[in-house]
Amino acid sequence: MASKSEEKIILAPVHFPKEILSRHLFETLETIFKRPVYIASPKLDLHPFFDPARDQYQSTAILKHFIKTTPRGESKICLLVKEDLFIPVLTFVFGEAHMYGQFAIVSSHRLREQFYMREENLKLLEQRLLKEIVHELGHTFGLVHCMDDRCVMHNSYTVEDTDHKNVYPCEVCFAKLDEVL
Ligand SMILES: [Zn+2]
Ligand SMILES: [Zn+2]
Repeated sequence: MASKSEEKIILAPVHFPKEILSRHLFETLETIFKRPVYIASPKLDLHPFFDPARDQYQSTAILKHFIKTTPRGESKICLLVKEDLFIPVLTFVFGEAHMYGQFAIVSSHRLREQFYMREENLKLLEQRLLKEIVHELGHTFGLVHCMDDRCVMHNSYTVEDTDHKNVYPCEVCFAKLDEVL
C-alpha cells in the first residue's frame, strides 16, 4: 500500500507557459485536495494527435498515450497544454479526466481572452485555468457534474460558464470530496 505521503498532485505542462502557474494556484489546489502540488515537465510530442481536418488535437488519444508511457502511482497528474482539444462528439473540450483515475488534461486555448478577440488578461486566464484544473482533478477523485452553476464541478460549455462558477466545489461536492481524501 502506498503511504499518504506518496499521494500528490502533479501539474505537467507541455510546451505551456509556466509563469501562469502562480503560487496562488498551487496553494488553492493544495487547500482543496489536501495534498502537495508539484510541477513536472513530461516529454510528450503532441503532433501525432493533431487532426488536420479539425485543426485541433484529440484529447482522449493524448491521455491514453500519456497513461501508456507513464508509470502508475498514487499521484494525480494533470497535463496542461495550450493546444485546442476535442473529442469527436463535441466541438471542443476545456479538458478531460478519468473518473476515479490518475490522469487529467486541461487546455488553456479557449481560456485566453485573445481567443475571443479580446485583450490578453493573464489574471483572468489564471483564474479560469485554476477552475478547469480543479474541475478535472475533481473527476479523478470521483466527483461528477454538479447542477449548481456556481460549483466548480458544473460543466462549462462556454468560457462564460467558467467565469460564472467558483474556484471551490459547492458544499455537497466538498462533502463528497472530503470522504475520499
Ligand atoms: Zn467535467
Ligand atoms: Zn457541486
